[in-house]
Amino acid sequence: EVVITLKDVDVRFHEKNRDVHAVDHVDLTVERGDIYGIVGYSGAGKSTLVRAINLLQRPTSGSVTVLGEDMLALSPKALRAERKRIGMIFQHFNLMNSLTIADNVAFPLKGLRPKAEIQAKVTELLELVGLEDRATAFPTELSGGQKQRVGIARALASDPEILISDEATSALDPKTTSAILDLLKQLNEKLGLTIVLITHEMEAVKQICNKVAVMDEGAIIERGSLLEIFAKPQQKLTKDFIDTTIQLDAAIESVRQQPAVAHLAGADQLVRLTYLGASTDQPLVATLYKDFNVTANILFGDIQILQGTPFGNLIVVLSGTQADIEQTFKYLAANDVQVQHIDKEA
Ligand code: ADP
Repeated sequence: EVVITLKDVDVRFHEKNRDVHAVDHVDLTVERGDIYGIVGYSGAGKSTLVRAINLLQRPTSGSVTVLGEDMLALSPKALRAERKRIGMIFQHFNLMNSLTIADNVAFPLKGLRPKAEIQAKVTELLELVGLEDRATAFPTELSGGQKQRVGIARALASDPEILISDEATSALDPKTTSAILDLLKQLNEKLGLTIVLITHEMEAVKQICNKVAVMDEGAIIERGSLLEIFAKPQQKLTKDFIDTTIQLDAAIESVRQQPAVAHLAGADQLVRLTYLGASTDQPLVATLYKDFNVTANILFGDIQILQGTPFGNLIVVLSGTQADIEQTFKYLAANDVQVQHIDKEA
């Protein structure tokens, strides 16, 4: 079931002497239960794009359909009601420091339901995010991670079906980030919550998203399931984002210092092998040695598990005759192992 459809959404800003094409004719389809990652550098247009979902940002042109409603056709009153079905969390939490945690969470419900009902709901929400014992505390007494838990509880107060997370973990340290992402994943599973997650870190996408779109200069330049994107990234920018999850630059730098690289000779090649799925390094390397008469000396290996599937990155020196190495590349390509040549020197 499709819950969000953006069709040809375009957003332009006119500033003094600058025209900004923040979102460039974007199509996006999000299905119920997705955790859809939108990754891109700062200024790529991610925030503007997701703000078009609940019309915090009105598109210059294009159509926005959310939970079956044509958002641009709604009356102001109907739009307010529809927005309650779309929660939002932010990088800087946007809590009210003069209110207790319980009152922050209750805020969206104020005046809309009987007091006792609100109180029960707040207790339930604080339990859901693991803050049941901090109801009477104030935001300034909480850690960043706890503040974001309050932000999440508040966003869920009106029982939304969709949650938009706009860089919600960018102000948090890695461990807290991981815990908050785990919480989002739990909420996705427990409540069937659909999540659109904006981030500049592929690491976050990797941890919980099932789908990902890469944005650059207002446009979505590549999209697919998480596994598709990691297995066969097409765009340089996508590859760069994936490489940050294995700190490839640092690995290549240290590999270049190794004697095996200093002494590369003849047809020897320094390559990165990337694969997703069945291949594992030992059988792969053993096969090369046995069937192709090529030795593969592994200088760096990183195997991660993405949605239960191994995602392998090896940097190896392939040694053998030119002909044997060519055969090897053919075999690797036929087995969905991507080969990328690495220069011996930076
Ligand atoms: P991201 O979320 O990927 O960092 P944004 O959507 O915030 O990117 O911004 C995309 C571009 O649109 C940037 O150049 C930004 O300066 C510009 N922009 C965003 N909001 C506005 C606005 N309200 N007025 C003018 N320019 C804006």
